[in-house]
Amino acid sequence: AGLKGTSGQLIEYDPNVEEETRRRFALSQQLYKAVLNREITVVFQPQIDLTDNRIVGAEILARWTRPDGSTIFPADFIPLAEANGLIVPLGQQILEQACSALRSMDEAGFPGITLGVNVSPVQLGRKEFIDELIATIRRYGLSPDRLELEITETVAMEEQQHADDVLSILRRKGFAIAIDDFGTGYSSLAKLRSLEAATLKIDQSFIAGLGGAGQNETIVEMIIRLGERMNMRVLAEGVETEQQAEWLQSRRCTLAQGFLYARPEPFEQFLARLRNSPVKTV
Ligand code: C2E
Ligand code: MG
Ligand code: MG
Ligand code: MG
Repeated sequence: AGLKGTSGQLIEYDPNVEEETRRRFALSQQLYKAVLNREITVVFQPQIDLTDNRIVGAEILARWTRPDGSTIFPADFIPLAEANGLIVPLGQQILEQACSALRSMDEAGFPGITLGVNVSPVQLGRKEFIDELIATIRRYGLSPDRLELEITETVAMEEQQHADDVLSILRRKGFAIAIDDFGTGYSSLAKLRSLEAATLKIDQSFIAGLGGAGQNETIVEMIIRLGERMNMRVLAEGVETEQQAEWLQSRRCTLAQGFLYARPEPFEQFLARLRNSPVKTV
């Protein structure tokens, strides 16, 4: 037996498809409850100035901590949250956690630290996004330049007038924009100029490939020079070894993030790290 497809062909029953559908549905329901119960937590990964090894900021990354203590990583729930709309309340919760962390850092004497927050295209596409973002940072008494909104290159380069308008308004309001996973998409140089992003984040695949086969050195070097010439900060993602860090320093890449410096960690641990290490105070 089988179902009739839209063009009349028989669709064979596939137990794997049913299994997958069931799994996604169950996960979707669990995620709904997790957002409702605020079980999505955040961790902080330090960002380092390679010229003096000081911490300049952190990226805030979502983690789903289940009641049994197990952790689910963003790759397994962000796409689902984007598909079912939960990314909207979830994104707001994460933003509030970022703001609350910024306030705590102010009070602890680290007012110069900035936080990178990943923004989904679904959030960017909502007409309420800008107003809600501004209302939130005001509620926490923060200025917009404390947040760097990370948009992936693929999303930033899309021919979408609405997204362009939103990004340019956000920039004028004083938010910093970072282009995430840079190098994996198809950037137009004209578009890149018009975006006026503060930071280019070099995708970690190129950093992992340094010293190996392929043109990774060439690509990374080109991105560093591009940032230099276009007045953008360039941050290398996924730095895991001393050799990678030294190579980046020798090419005048000024910022880095990766397991070499720290894994994403709970806020208290990040704060302790700030207290114990050289930090940019401006
Ligand atoms: P991303 O924004 O490019 O974040 C960097 C990812 O690289 C993080 O994975 C981080 O843990 C990982 N990473 C950092 N340093 C190293 C390293 O040295 N080596 C390796 N192998 N990996 C490293 P994570 O936390 O699993 O997040 C994955 C992606 O999920 C993020 O990529 C981002 O696109 C998305 N994401 C995470 N949190 C959020 C969020 O709050 N909202 C939205 N919309 N997306 C998020
Ligand atoms: Mg990011
Ligand atoms: Mg990235
Ligand atoms: Mg990524």
